[in-house]
Amino acid sequence: MSRDDARFGDFGGRHVPDPLEEPLDELAQAFDEIHDTDRFRDRFQRTLRSFAGRPTPLFHAERLSEAYGAQIYLKREDLLHGGAHKINNCLGQALLAEEAGKTRLIAETGAGQHGVATAMVGAMLGLDTEIYMGKKDVERQKMNVFRMRLMGAEVNEVTRGGAGLADAVDAALEDLARNVADTHYLVGSAVGPDPFPRMVREFQSVIGREARDQIQEQAGQLPDAAVACVGGGSNAIGLFHAFRDDDVAFYGAEGGGEGEGSGKHAAPLSEGAAGVKHGMKTRVLDDDTEVHSVSAGLDYPAVGPEHAMFRAVGRCDYRPVEDDAALEAFRTLSELEGIIPALESSHGLALAKDLAADMDEEDVILVNLSGRGDKDMEQAAEMFDLG
Ligand SMILES: *Cc1c(COP(=O)(O)O)cnc(C)c1O
Repeated sequence: MSRDDARFGDFGGRHVPDPLEEPLDELAQAFDEIHDTDRFRDRFQRTLRSFAGRPTPLFHAERLSEAYGAQIYLKREDLLHGGAHKINNCLGQALLAEEAGKTRLIAETGAGQHGVATAMVGAMLGLDTEIYMGKKDVERQKMNVFRMRLMGAEVNEVTRGGAGLADAVDAALEDLARNVADTHYLVGSAVGPDPFPRMVREFQSVIGREARDQIQEQAGQLPDAAVACVGGGSNAIGLFHAFRDDDVAFYGAEGGGEGEGSGKHAAPLSEGAAGVKHGMKTRVLDDDTEVHSVSAGLDYPAVGPEHAMFRAVGRCDYRPVEDDAALEAFRTLSELEGIIPALESSHGLALAKDLAADMDEEDVILVNLSGRGDKDMEQAAEMFDLG
C-alpha cells in the first residue's frame, strides 16, 4: 500500500506495536482491492437499501427554520435500522471482512450503540461476534447488553484499568493480534490506525452523496453550511466528504459539557493538542482528564485524524457545545417537529441555531441528524421532569 494514503497532512498514519502491522497491511490491501469492485459496491448498496433502510430522507424543518432564522434541512440518519448512522460503517466493514475470508467480528463499545450495530450485522451475515465493553459501561447500559446477547453476540466484560472504553479498545486490539487469521476488528468511528479512518469515511460518505443530490433538488442550491456533531468524527466526515470541493462551510460540534469534578470538555479539536493515541496521530486531550459530555457518544478523548487536518488547514470550524445548549435543542426539535433527536445530534442542532443567528433567513443549513433519541429518554425524563 502507499503510505501516503494513510496520512491526512501531518495526522493519521499507523502507530501500532509490531504484531499489528501485518494484519493492518492485509486489511488495507483487502480494502483497496475489494471496495471499488462492481460486485462489492452492488452488494453494499443493495444491503444498505434492504437491511439498513437507505436512502434516508432529507427533511426541510420549516417550524425549526422559522424559530432559528435560517432554512434548516435535516439528513434523517435517525431513521436507519438501529436508529443511527453507525449501521453504514458496520455493514461496509462486515461485508468487506466476509469477502476477505474472515469468519469472526470483534468490536469495542462504550455506551453500547456500536456494539449493538455490530451485533446486528454479525447476526445477519452469520459471523461469530464478540464485543468488548468496560465493566462500568456494562452496568450502566444494560439494555444494550441485552440487545447484543439477544442477537447472539458474546459480550466480554473488561475489568482492567479504568474498566471503560479505552480499556475495551486495548482488549480488542490484543484479541486481534492473537486471532488475525479469522478475525476482523470492526472499529466504530473514523479513528485508529490506517486503513480505518479512510475506510470508515468511504462507508459513511453515502450520507453526503445522498444529501448533496437531495438538497439541490429540494432547496435548489448547495447548502451554505453543513453541520454535524463530532465524537470520533464518522458521521461528520460522512456528511462533509461529498461537499469537500464545494463552496460549503463546514462546522463540527464537539461535546463541551461542564464535567462533574475534574471533568473536561470532550473537545480535542477545540481544546486538545497534537499527540498519538489508539494507533493514530491526531488531536487528543490529556490522558489523566476524564472527558465529559451529556451524550455518551461524544465522550471520546481523541478524534479522527482527517478532522485534525481539516482544523489545521481551516477547512472546518469546530466548536464546543455546552450540555445546556444541546438539551435545549433536543427539546426544541421534539416540540416543533415531532422528531426526538439523539443527544449527540442535538449538539449539531444547537450549533446550527448559533450559526443561523448570524445568517440571512434564506440561507440554507444542512444538519446531519445522526441518530434518534429513544436511547436518551430516561436521561431526558429526569432532566425535563417528565415523570
Ligand atoms: C456514536 C454516535 C455519534 C458519534 O460518533 P461519530 O463517529 O462522531 O459520528 C454521534 N451521533 C450518534 C447518534 C451516535 O450514535
